Amino acid sequence: MTGRNILIIEDNSLNLELATDLLEVNGFTVNSAPTAEEGLRLARELLPDLVLMDIGLPGMDGLCATKDLKANPATRHLTVVGLTANAMKGDEEIALKAGCDGYLTKPINTRTFIETITRFIHASQEAPRNKPSAREEKS
Ligand code: MN
Repeated sequence: MTGRNILIIEDNSLNLELATDLLEVNGFTVNSAPTAEEGLRLARELLPDLVLMDIGLPGMDGLCATKDLKANPATRHLTVVGLTANAMKGDEEIALKAGCDGYLTKPINTRTFIETITRFIHASQEAPRNKPSAREEKS
């Protein structure tokens, strides 16, 4: 179903399971990866409606992965929501600066999670950014 494909890039299996269960119970299709490298590959292949991006990942972190998605004409339109491990103000600002469209703080709030994800998807559909095009942008 359109508007319901989520890619979760998260190395913590408990967080991944919780988010996946909540989304699937609510009719979303979920793909996931435990590393940024694998997540980027899936993002390019699947072009999901929303990428839930853990910021703290082994190897390449979620900030670098987000910058990579936003620098690529084929993936820059993807909605990326950062998952920050703590509610420190600095982390949220850093996530937005890296190109995240929004962020969620862990632990996931099971009562508001689905509503929040749905809101991010609707917001991106109402204000579509650059869609992928065959023409590379020169800058
Ligand atoms: Mn992590």
